[in-house]
Amino acid sequence: MLTVNENSRYFVPAPAVGSILGGAELAALGEVVRSGESLSQGRWRDAFEQAMREHVGSRYAMTVTSGTVAVALAVHLLDLAPGDEVIVTPQTFKATVDPLLAHDVTVRFCDVEPDTLNVDVDSFESLITPRTRALILVHYGGRPARMDEIMRVARRHGVRVIEDCAHALGALYRGRRPGALGDIGCFSFHSSKNITTLGEGGMLTFDDPEWAERLDRIRSNAADGVLIPSPLSAGPYQHSEPWMMWAGDSYEKECLRIRHPGSNATLSEAGAAVGLVQLERLGELAGRRRWIAGRLARTLAELPQVRLADVPEDIHHPYHLFTFFVRPGQGVSRDEVIHALEDAGVQVQVRYFPLHLRPEWRGRGHRLGECPVTERLWFHEQVNLPCYPSMTDGQVEHLVLALKSALTGRRDTGERGTSSYEEARA
Ligand SMILES: *Cc1c(COP(=O)(O)O)cnc(C)c1O
Repeated sequence: MLTVNENSRYFVPAPAVGSILGGAELAALGEVVRSGESLSQGRWRDAFEQAMREHVGSRYAMTVTSGTVAVALAVHLLDLAPGDEVIVTPQTFKATVDPLLAHDVTVRFCDVEPDTLNVDVDSFESLITPRTRALILVHYGGRPARMDEIMRVARRHGVRVIEDCAHALGALYRGRRPGALGDIGCFSFHSSKNITTLGEGGMLTFDDPEWAERLDRIRSNAADGVLIPSPLSAGPYQHSEPWMMWAGDSYEKECLRIRHPGSNATLSEAGAAVGLVQLERLGELAGRRRWIAGRLARTLAELPQVRLADVPEDIHHPYHLFTFFVRPGQGVSRDEVIHALEDAGVQVQVRYFPLHLRPEWRGRGHRLGECPVTERLWFHEQVNLPCYPSMTDGQVEHLVLALKSALTGRRDTGERGTSSYEEARA
């Protein structure tokens, strides 16, 4: 069923919901509502976390309330100190990098590969100094970054790697899953992502038991501090008294330093129950994205005006985003292509504005020219097309025609896009 808002001028809108929710999700929600159990920190969270551990192949998988919170807590776990340096990709959503604004560290934006928009390994290595503590990267659009090469460089220099896997659920890299390739993986289950936990949700994946202990404290309103046994534990109050049970280890510990005051960042049982069902449907949801992406890629492969990244055999791409590049000097500009697509009712979002040029980062001294490839692609070449499971076959065919027309249609009539789109359809 086509569900296009009648007031919308878009026949193929950008996705508001990335996955499809149906009867199985409703049944899971019904079970939670009827259970009478706590709606927080219960068995659905445990089951969802276990399923994600098995899926990703990490020792720990811990839910939080969003992908943004996941990255912020991953950065926290690194214990960055003033003067430390962190290398980041500029080609991602702001939540990948902006948690660093709260830390007194030097941030270096590294450039991206011109075909994948993922971190360029040479650019990353060239920015490493003795003070470099971490790299934060994204698997852009779901396509895994060159993790073997990146981790070789990172390990050689003692640099930790945070993978932002917000797009990459369902991806495979040389038989392994993003989220288990670096030191910490961060997932988002926002409404627009590959699966959703009812609108908002996130997850961290990693292997370090100390991180698991610290993270579990923070997300359940306990301080992350450096604690040692207290001499008071030998005092007059006995821990075996019933009211002392509720004090936990409070009385028996001494705090030397607070790293994080603690927060409430655990995913609700309703979200976890829906996430569990969505994870079971991941193959089906990603399969539909891959089918649409295949159709778009075959269309574009015939057109000399564009270039696409090829996808090697050892990568499975879940196509959270479908991206192509308009070649300069081939008779049509990127901006003309986007105008023509918009005129044909296709909503185009170019993701993402280079982060080093956002005001927060310019305010810290970052400048145009810092990441020339990222800038050239975003300002002149890059296009992202709608590609999500709820797109109908009719919308896909409309998009294919609009695309052919936008790239090859005559635009010397004074009218953009629409007229040549109509010709292509006729
Ligand atoms: C969506 C997204 C996030 C943030 O996730 P939320 O769950 O929306 O907070 C972080 N990084 C990237 C790359 C994203 O696309």
